[in-house]
Formats: sequence, structure tokens, C-alpha cells
Amino acid sequence: MGSSPNSLQLVLDAPGVRGRRVTALTKDGSTEFMQSMIFEKREVKEPFYVLDLGVVMSLHDKWTRSLPMVRPFYAVKCNPEPALLGALAALGSNFDCASRAEIESVLSLGVSPDRIVYANPCKAESHIKYAASVGVNLTTFDSREELDKIRDWHPGCALLLRVKPHDDSGARCPLGPKYGALPEEVEPLLQAAQEARLNVAGVSFHIGSGATNTNAYQGAIAAAKTVFDTAARLGLPKFQVLNIGGGFTADPQFDEAASAVKDALQTYFPNERGLTIISEPGRFFAESAFTLATTIIGKRIRGDLREYWINDGIYGSMNCILYDHATVTCMPLACTSNRANPICKGLWTHNSTVFGPTCDALDTVLTGHQLPELHVSDWLVFPNMGAYTAAAGSSFNGFNTAAILNHLVYSNPR
Ligand SMILES: *Cc1c(COP(=O)(O)O)cnc(C)c1O
Repeated sequence: MGSSPNSLQLVLDAPGVRGRRVTALTKDGSTEFMQSMIFEKREVKEPFYVLDLGVVMSLHDKWTRSLPMVRPFYAVKCNPEPALLGALAALGSNFDCASRAEIESVLSLGVSPDRIVYANPCKAESHIKYAASVGVNLTTFDSREELDKIRDWHPGCALLLRVKPHDDSGARCPLGPKYGALPEEVEPLLQAAQEARLNVAGVSFHIGSGATNTNAYQGAIAAAKTVFDTAARLGLPKFQVLNIGGGFTADPQFDEAASAVKDALQTYFPNERGLTIISEPGRFFAESAFTLATTIIGKRIRGDLREYWINDGIYGSMNCILYDHATVTCMPLACTSNRANPICKGLWTHNSTVFGPTCDALDTVLTGHQLPELHVSDWLVFPNMGAYTAAAGSSFNGFNTAAILNHLVYSNPR
């Protein structure tokens, strides 16, 4: 089952997409599209992103087919591009927001507040008041102090107790050092919520971003079950929500993760009536949907080594190398120096370094990378640049990440 033409129409009409140019790609047309963009705007040599809405649709399809019992709440922090948010909203996804501004951007797309989980366990008072004022009524907590604030400013809010996964060591970015109640803290926290007459509706966890150990879902779902049991023993109203967090990647490992989740749900929550299972995928939907094109703005030859400067770097989109522990890769697009063979097929390569544009030596994107001989005004194209990239870039040294344009394309689902 591919994406129906119907869902394409929904996506094209979505807020954030509607009114913008969306180019349909032919098969394998993304390089072609990049080239046409580059030629069309020959005088403009700024970096740009290409967001493939077809990829977003097929990922959404894949999610729905693999985990039909788990409702996705896209984690906005991963990439808040309005067209991505709008497309996901049109496809029926919900949203995980962590701040007032994220809630505002989702609501501004016409998404109703009951499709938002405010999944930040430690929230500023003013943001809690804002959530209350717009009717965002589901949030997470892992401390007594948070319960006090919620009692004071949003007592009607349903709560999910965020628990720390036992083992998130396999994740690229573990979240356990910062968030999640320890096993011995669960009972006192549930009692405190009970005394404050707050409504605890269930449990949430996050096994860490970029998880490689799919067994971690098993362990965390088992731990969540013991929290459900503790709540029942304390006489709390029956829990209705299990939030399995994020951590999914879109590569073949997704199938493994999905079956680990399904098995664990079957084992620990068999035929639970009235249980809503939700998840907060970020990377899964964003990573492979975005491609970044950068211009070579400088070059130096040192013996056999080729050094290139491009117009995006560690302080911009490639901050993912530092913060997200990502490894990036790039393909040459020699649109200027080799128009007959822009992808440089079959050409001899050199050991190359790729630097970002700022004056900090830390701003180095790739070392020891094999690239053909390229020239100033050629391009380097970085695939899989949608997760934790532009979202966390700065304007250090005057290179403004937020100003990087996003072009929308649509490829046929694979
Ligand atoms: C960052 C985050 C996510 C998204 O995680 P991914 O690994 O990108 O799927 C989900 N939930 C919470 C609470 C987060 O902090």
C-alpha cells in the first residue's frame, strides 16, 4: 500500500505547505532538482535545504503499518520547519512540544490542543500558565517541585510520570542523566500527586535519541508496567496512557524496534482495554526527509590534500556533529566546474578536508574525506540532514542558520 493520491492532496493543502511551490520529482530526481535549483539561481550561492514531502508520507505510512496501535506525536524540537509540521498534521500525526513557542507554532497550523503532549518534565511557570490558557492538557513530570507548579497553575492537566529507563547506554544521546524518576521515587511521587489531587493518567519514558539497542524498549515497557501496578495498588484512578517516547530511526533498524515494541506491549499490556499508547518520534520523521546543499566558497591545496570551505558548518546545520554525535557525509555537485559530469562519476579522488565558514578552527565538517577535484562555486550536498540540524544552529560570526531556505519537493513513495 503506497500513499494514496488523497493523502498527497491533504499534504499539498496543509498549512505550512499550501501556497508554497512544491516540485514533483521524477524517479531519482533529487540530484536533478538540486542542479536545476542551482542553475536557476546561479547568482545566488547560499546554502539551501530540500524537504521531500514524499519521504514524509512514506515514513508516516510505514509507521502506521508497523505500529498501528501507537499514535505518533512528532517531537517538534527535532525540526520545526512549518511544512514538515503541516504535512504531519495533515497525515494525522500529533505533536510533542517542549515550550510555549513550540506549542504556539503547532496551534498556528490549526492543530487542536488535544493533539499536543507538553512533554517537558521541567517547565517554567509562565509556560505552564500558557499551556493552561490554550487548553494543552497533557504533560509529563518527574519531581515533586513540578507537581507543585502544576497544582498552582494548571491543576486540571493530566500527567504522565516520566521514568528513567534502566539502560539507555546504547543511545547516541541518552536522556536518562537528566530526566526520569528512579524506581524508588515512583511511589512517593504518585502519592504526592494523589495528595495534591492531581490526575496522573499514565507513564512516559524515552530510551534515548538515536537508540541502537532495541531491547531497551522491552526493558522500559516492563518498567512502565510496574508503575501501572504501583498506581493500582495505591488506589489511583486507572492509568490510560502509555507514552513510549522517541529514539526511532528510519533505517532498517526501525523494523527491529517496531517488533520489539509490539512484543513488549503484547507481553506486558495484553488486551488492556481503554489504554492509549502514544510515542514521540522526532528523528524518525525528520532525518531522511531533508537534504542540504552548500556552496564551496574557498579552497586551498596543500600537497595531496584538498581543503574546501563551505557556507554552512558546525555553528549552523552541522552542529549535529557536536550535539547529536552525528556523522555527516556529502556528495559533490560540480555544477560550475564540470557541467558535463556534475556528480563526478568515475573521477579520481583526493583526501579532502571540509571546513565551515566561521573563523573557529573547531568549525570543521569532514576530515579524511575522499572527494574529486572541486572548485570554488561548486556544491557539496549532504543527505539525511533533517534531524537536530538547522533547529539548533546559531548565527555565530554572522552566518545565520535560521535564514537557510527550504525548498519543497515531492517524490513518489518508494
Ligand atoms: C527529543 C525528544 C523526543 C524525540 O526523540 P527522537 O530520538 O528524535 O525520536 C521525544 N520525546 C522527548 C521527551 C524528547 O525530549
